[in-house]
Amino acid sequence: MKLLIARPMTAAVEERARAEFDTEFRSSTLPMSPDEMRRALSEFDVVVPTLGDQFSAEIFAEVPEPRCKLLANFGVGYNHIDVAAAQAAGVQVTNTPGAVTDATADIAMTLLLMTARRAGEGERLVRSGKWQGWHPTQMLGHHVTGKRVGIVGMGRIGQAIAWRCHFGFGMDVAYQSRSPKEVEFPAENILNLEELAAAVDFLVLAVPGGAETHHLINAQVLEAMKPSGILINIARGEVVDEAALIAALLSGQIAGAGLDVYEFEPTVPQALCDMENVTLLPHLGTATEEVRTDMGNMALDNVAAFAEGRLLPNPV
Ligand code: NAP
Repeated sequence: MKLLIARPMTAAVEERARAEFDTEFRSSTLPMSPDEMRRALSEFDVVVPTLGDQFSAEIFAEVPEPRCKLLANFGVGYNHIDVAAAQAAGVQVTNTPGAVTDATADIAMTLLLMTARRAGEGERLVRSGKWQGWHPTQMLGHHVTGKRVGIVGMGRIGQAIAWRCHFGFGMDVAYQSRSPKEVEFPAENILNLEELAAAVDFLVLAVPGGAETHHLINAQVLEAMKPSGILINIARGEVVDEAALIAALLSGQIAGAGLDVYEFEPTVPQALCDMENVTLLPHLGTATEEVRTDMGNMALDNVAAFAEGRLLPNPV
């Protein structure tokens, strides 16, 4: 069974993949080109793709009878794969849910705290050598403990963020989700997104990307937020209309934003880089050695199940 892994992985994952399968690793850390994806579908039985590998309907159309029968995606988000087109071509798709939950929720809290408490700006000040010392009105930020958070997409990661906000910071939790959730702390389900945006101090995005959530956060939702409101996005860049976000930040319609993902990633608009009230991270959600190894093992568990003809543990 020939396996292609689309990026270098942690040493533990590479070792396991080499031991268990006839594995080829791409050495590039950049997304696969259309040529590489066509070759992947034609010459391998299983491919482990990841973020940025655009397995679109066109790619599947160009390889009508793929040798590849499984895309075992590395990552929980799979909006870069046209799943309907894959299935129509006889290619199953799996992902790595759960393994990513806590690390991504931790990054959401990092962004929330950094943005509210101006940590990036403060760090830049210290490093610049221009800090003149403590005084009572120096760099006043927004209080976090006891405030109200609104989670958009109360799934695994959304609930883990809400848990941290409630138990760690005594925050009031509200959320918007397609289905009501049972959680171990009070949480109000506010179905209307603009109503939720208006009711909270921090609006945190944790929905999947894709056509259904494209620009879910638009000018109207941003307008509904409080002027002291802060937007946090750990979901996918295209969930936010980035131009509308920049306008809302520039006009002071909202107080700040903490972003791990960008609409045209890895391009980050200069306007965002120029604003001190914005925290910008390079898609760090799951970036720990342990989590990337867990994700790789989960992807390989799906490959192993496929190779042995067992039910796939994580079909999408
Ligand atoms: P999940 O458990 O499937 O949760 C997704 C939540 O979004 C669910 O509550 C779901 O509602 C809701 N939802 C789905 N489609 C929606 C729609 N069209 N409109 C409104 N709500 C919708 O997924 P997860 O494991 O929490 O991951 C969420 C996303 O986070 C991933 O898809 C990925 O894109 C992103 N992510 C980012 C990073 C990073 O590095 N920044 C890391 C991991 C994941 P229902 O429960 O009602 O169906």
